[in-house]
Amino acid sequence: MADKHAGLDFETLAIRAGQTRTGEGEHSEPIFPTSSYVFENAAAAAARFSGDEPGNIYSRFTNPTVRTFEQRLAALEGGECCVATSSGMAAILSTCAGLLKAGDHVVCSRSVFGTTIVLFSTYLARFGIETTFVPLADLDAWEQAIRPETRLLFLETPSNPLTELADIRALAELAHHSGCLLAVDNCFCTPALQQPLALGADLVIHSATKYLDGQGRCIGGAVIGNSEQVGKEVYGFLRTAGPTMSPFNAWVFLKGLETLALRMQAHCDNTLELARWLEQQPQVERVFYPGLESHPQHALAGRQQRGYGGIVSFEVSGGKGPAWSLIDATRIFSITANLGDTKSTITHPATTTHGRLTPELRAATGISDGLIRLAVGLESVHDLRADLERGLTAVGH
Ligand SMILES: *Cc1c(COP(=O)(O)O)cnc(C)c1O
Repeated sequence: MADKHAGLDFETLAIRAGQTRTGEGEHSEPIFPTSSYVFENAAAAAARFSGDEPGNIYSRFTNPTVRTFEQRLAALEGGECCVATSSGMAAILSTCAGLLKAGDHVVCSRSVFGTTIVLFSTYLARFGIETTFVPLADLDAWEQAIRPETRLLFLETPSNPLTELADIRALAELAHHSGCLLAVDNCFCTPALQQPLALGADLVIHSATKYLDGQGRCIGGAVIGNSEQVGKEVYGFLRTAGPTMSPFNAWVFLKGLETLALRMQAHCDNTLELARWLEQQPQVERVFYPGLESHPQHALAGRQQRGYGGIVSFEVSGGKGPAWSLIDATRIFSITANLGDTKSTITHPATTTHGRLTPELRAATGISDGLIRLAVGLESVHDLRADLERGLTAVGH
């Protein structure tokens, strides 16, 4: 597969990689909704089961539709191997269960998806895996948190909702110097905008639920890396414990990949335009978007990413009251915490996604009561701006 597609561009791989036609000559990829597979005879069954002969046995292990998605996403991330999982959280769990053991230590950015923090601090802790949380952009803090038993560094970049960046190349160097692996949750950028493996990361994690699907239909995830760590260890856990992706979901995601580059470009264009406009509004105190010259890591974003992404946050003056008024006055933006959809969404982090943090911790991590997060979709940017204008009018001056 790697050879057949050597030298092809991202947009071509997104449409062509991973497909093997059946004897029917179908043009579009088929869905294989089958739990098991049939063998020619008893000897063939024995050869499959013993591993002497490669091939499908049972869909907890392999499925042709899932494999097509895996090979396509591996090609887009520039990785040797990909395993698909039933959700983004299952991808993180499978990575940890496949590669860590009791007594190992993890250093994790404190600005990761809330459920990821719960997985590390509550559930993995019960199995003897301890995690230290550090500020994402503080390289010294990462270095100081590393111990002899540290095995894994874990992060998301840009962060949610404040769009802070980690320097992936610098953290990969630190990880390898300390004998650790670096895992990057690439959900916000997708491989269309950022390829962590090329920057030195060892593992890429996805919640396919977001931009890979792109239309808010299915839950799924994936892990990409080399054939030893992902192909053997993570896959070994997955086929045993069972958080596999369904063939139907794999088909939705692989069709999503075909339009990924175009969609991400459109998300970026809409978001940059809204971010620039928001910066000029008198009711807005501050805008957080890596594509703005005012973003402290604008230069790093330009080096590390091929676009600035679809997430922008901003602070309105006056705190929670005005923020809620703005949200309630919009008519197009959906009031939901999901992202990566054609439909734009609007969220008040302090009372939803980050509502369980103490007020002190929220203040320390910069989630103010006036903060609003937008996940900008693919509607007309003109209509979205008018909708936000309606919201800002409700805030007053
Ligand atoms: C949504 C999300 C996840 C979890 O993915 P699920 O598919 O909901 O399990 C993990 N990381 C990030 C950055 C996410 O946005």
